[in-house]
Amino acid sequence: AKRIAPGSHVFFSQEMADEVQERLGLSNALQQALKDQALELHFQPQLGVDDDRQLGLEALLRWHPPGGSPIPPAHFIPVAEETSLICDIGDWVLQQACARIQAWQAAGLQPGRVSVNISARHFHGPDFVTRLSALLQQYPAGRNRLTLEVTEGVILENLQESRARMSQIKALGVGLSIDDFGTGYSSFAYLRELPVDEIKLDRSFIQHIDKRPQDKAIIACLLELAAILKLTVVAEGVETEQQLASLAELGCPAYQGYLRARPMPEPQLMAWLAEQAPS
Ligand code: C2E
Ligand code: CA
Ligand code: CA
Ligand code: CA
Repeated sequence: AKRIAPGSHVFFSQEMADEVQERLGLSNALQQALKDQALELHFQPQLGVDDDRQLGLEALLRWHPPGGSPIPPAHFIPVAEETSLICDIGDWVLQQACARIQAWQAAGLQPGRVSVNISARHFHGPDFVTRLSALLQQYPAGRNRLTLEVTEGVILENLQESRARMSQIKALGVGLSIDDFGTGYSSFAYLRELPVDEIKLDRSFIQHIDKRPQDKAIIACLLELAAILKLTVVAEGVETEQQLASLAELGCPAYQGYLRARPMPEPQLMAWLAEQAPS
């Protein structure tokens, strides 16, 4: 084989070609799925740590290609994020979420705020706020009921611009939540400057909360920080009673997790909500 000069980028392998091919195939199939209305939103309840009262929902995207097996969002979202496809998908998710909020309101249901995950490219897109504003005119029920979840990475990509954008979003009556809080960055100073309502504690902190004193101490610190900044807190990925008990001990207000409720398609969610109603 020919020798390649060190540091040169003329490097190529069949594996890389296959990888590119696979991503392209996935991206095309996803684009088609969006057109064919083959994507679906599931909803995971958010509950009060002390009383299991249902407080809100997180909308999570699902893709089940006909004749195939479901493809997890952790697999297809990063592919969509490589292009503007994530903006089209994100717009669809926002529209669906608002349509559901409006339908639930018309039916007299009150499932609380609905959180939607927003990717960086979508959030920082030139007319994101304009389109969000138009969407809320189409679905007025979404006002004061919709929350956007963004990760620290999204915000820190451009802090000044993010701050301006977040203020405009708040002015529309839309809530803001920092997803996977504490996983990416060591400084939380940026939080002071941003109009954020909520932080979500990543599952990696919750997983060993009942076994690792360090993890418990970190969560205690994050809860204290949230209290100072007057932010609400949702713990993610609660799977055991012990984890929930530890969160209660620490005074964490809200949680999501397989322990009580998985993400569900709408009909199942309706049945679940009906069961929760106090008898
Ligand atoms: P995320 O926003 O951090 O969502 C939490 C993930 O944890 C979800 O996975 C949820 O189903 C899962 N989960 C909830 N409770 C438990 C639990 O008790 N145990 C465990 N092991 N997992 C739990 P999912 O639905 O597969 O989504 C994965 C990621 O894909 C999300 O992470 C989010 O980053 C992204 N995603 C999902 N839907 C959307 C969307 O509509 N738009 C964008 N941009 N990203 C999305
Ligand atoms: Ca999320
Ligand atoms: Ca999360
Ligand atoms: Ca995550």
